[in-house]
Amino acid sequence: MIRLAIVGLGKIARDQHLPAIEKTGGIELVAIASRNATLDGIPHFASLDELLASDVAVDAVALCTPPQVRRQQAALALSHGKHVLLEKPPGATVSELAPLIAAARASGRTLFATWHSRFAPAVAPARAFLAEHAPRAVSVEWKEDVRVWHPGQDWIFEPGGLGVFDPGINALSILTHILPAPFFLTRATLGFPENRDAPIEAALDFADSAGVPIRAELDFLQTGPQTWDIHVETDAGRLTLSLGGAKLFLDGKALIEEPEAEYPGIYKHFVDLVARGASDVDLAPLQHVADAFLLGRRIVVAPFEG
Ligand code: NAP
Repeated sequence: MIRLAIVGLGKIARDQHLPAIEKTGGIELVAIASRNATLDGIPHFASLDELLASDVAVDAVALCTPPQVRRQQAALALSHGKHVLLEKPPGATVSELAPLIAAARASGRTLFATWHSRFAPAVAPARAFLAEHAPRAVSVEWKEDVRVWHPGQDWIFEPGGLGVFDPGINALSILTHILPAPFFLTRATLGFPENRDAPIEAALDFADSAGVPIRAELDFLQTGPQTWDIHVETDAGRLTLSLGGAKLFLDGKALIEEPEAEYPGIYKHFVDLVARGASDVDLAPLQHVADAFLLGRRIVVAPFEG
């Protein structure tokens, strides 16, 4: 049985991690390390340092803090011989992952950089479909209202918080998993509110080596219906993943409509990785975001007051 501590008991920890841990065999929650938040009946520590100095035995930590503080927490946990599960994105930079991967390898511990959208029910079937039917063009619309989904989360517009790429990286995590060929950024425009340090909108063009065009539009100010859709034109018709990978359609006909189970999938995989002494760290989605910051043309848009 893996004895797990959650670090950073915020929105995603409460909404998804707690119920998923409850449902997963082979893992149990034994502690919380969070500066302010506590959970009835579970030992609480104000920091990871305090937890590691205590007599509560833990084998693993799930880091559900904002990305800007995760590297230091992951390094500390690995140096104490703990397995580490990282919320997405795995860090505030791409390069900060290399020492963590090396530390996990050296200590024989598991490092798992989660991409929760890859566990959505339509993603594996879409990948299998696209292995048989080559994509001809791809378009992504990832448009949600930050005021609804991230109320009061100032870190998201601070450096390293990724802004609209915080949800947008989920689309990139799906694309990098389902498309049969690697792709690369060719052009990007990022809209930064004049009072913030991270973009609130982005338009991205990618291509693969065969020239298949991939267009992604990200918006963090979407009112009305929220859109998390990926469309892929193929020789067999138009494949659509909608609702963040929950549903799959071919030419409008439903192929997959299953209940959401991303986080139970994440924890099942984590238990399996620990049992096998393996790690799972794919940096491709974060690399694409870094490329957008490198290549993207920056425009200034209206201030965001939250
Ligand atoms: P959140 O609600 O702000 O929760 C993060 C928690 O971490 C905070 O409640 C806070 O708890 C702690 N924390 C904040 N700043 C910290 C700091 N500087 N140092 C140490 N601890 C700090 O954020 P969230 O929405 O749960 O997102 C956390 C991560 O999960 C993000 O990377 C996000 O991309 C990912 N995620 C979020 C969602 C979602 O729907 N919200 C979905 C999937 C993935 P204390 O004040 O108690 O320390």
